[in-house]
Amino acid sequence: RAKKSGRGTFRFFNASLDGAASARLSLEIALRRALEREEFELYYQPKIDLRSGACSGAEALIRWNSPERGLVLPGQFIPSAEESGLIANIGAWVLEQACRQLAAWRDSGRTALQLSVNVSARQFIDQSLCDRLTHLLDRYHIDPALLELELTESTVMAEPDLAIKQLLKLRWNNTPVSVDDFGTGYSSLSYLKRLPIHTIKIDQSFVHHVDSETDNAAIVAAIVGIARALDMRIIAEGVETEGEERHLIEAGCSLAQGFRYAAPLPLDRFELWLANQPMAFPNLR
Ligand code: C2E
Ligand code: MG
Ligand code: MG
Ligand code: MG
Repeated sequence: RAKKSGRGTFRFFNASLDGAASARLSLEIALRRALEREEFELYYQPKIDLRSGACSGAEALIRWNSPERGLVLPGQFIPSAEESGLIANIGAWVLEQACRQLAAWRDSGRTALQLSVNVSARQFIDQSLCDRLTHLLDRYHIDPALLELELTESTVMAEPDLAIKQLLKLRWNNTPVSVDDFGTGYSSLSYLKRLPIHTIKIDQSFVHHVDSETDNAAIVAAIVGIARALDMRIIAEGVETEGEERHLIEAGCSLAQGFRYAAPLPLDRFELWLANQPMAFPNLR
């Protein structure tokens, strides 16, 4: 395996650059160019309040419209962006884009829509994250409560003490934080108890067939119990069927996200979807 290299690191090109390494390098170069050419786009997936059926907000999920590769999903380029350090620039773009969108929604009267963005480990441990976030929120006049950060369990647990410091700063700024893919990492419950986290997102692998697979049902019940005990909100991701939804409601889950409601959609289609939701505008002026 080639050595990790940060920005500005000298790379030595030679004939021994193997196939995988050269593919990685060309992906890095393409990603850099994609930023310059503004080929990234945010898609929006609605979050549903299971009690009212209303849309409470959305998760922003990045897509890369590559002229050469077509529509590229984050799983195919985020790991490389993390490894190369380019995630800092991509992450900054995502945060700014999210703020712009929140400002646009506010200006059109959709004042209650919350937006969450995914933040990778390198972005999260960056000490300047909170200041930059405050700056952005100020510049776009966004209520901090409307922009949520999603961190995976492994991001939070990788360096728990550092994570607690960052999370306390974020809480001080009123930025909501959720733990993504919950149940797939190795959370220590004693750490979880100390973390100022607002929401737990149940990983979709446990939501899948939760109405018929008893193992998943047991895990979901346990996660809901933990969230209740720690006074955290809970959201199920990857809800695809009515049966799963019914089970989740009975298990005490109040929010859901998944193909049952809508896939992640480009902005215009998301807004069209919203317009067709009977209860989508609780705060419409
Ligand atoms: P995630 O944050 O856990 O996002 C959920 C993933 O599940 C999304 O995949 C979404 O399209 C997919 N999904 C939603 N509903 C359903 C469903 O009902 N069934 C199934 N099978 N899948 C569903 P996507 O968009 O490919 O994103 C994958 C991961 O990439 C995300 O997982 C997140 O960790 C990461 N990611 C996405 N956008 C960003 C970003 O802007 N920055 C960073 N650092 N990571 C991102
Ligand atoms: Mg997420
Ligand atoms: Mg997730
Ligand atoms: Mg995931």
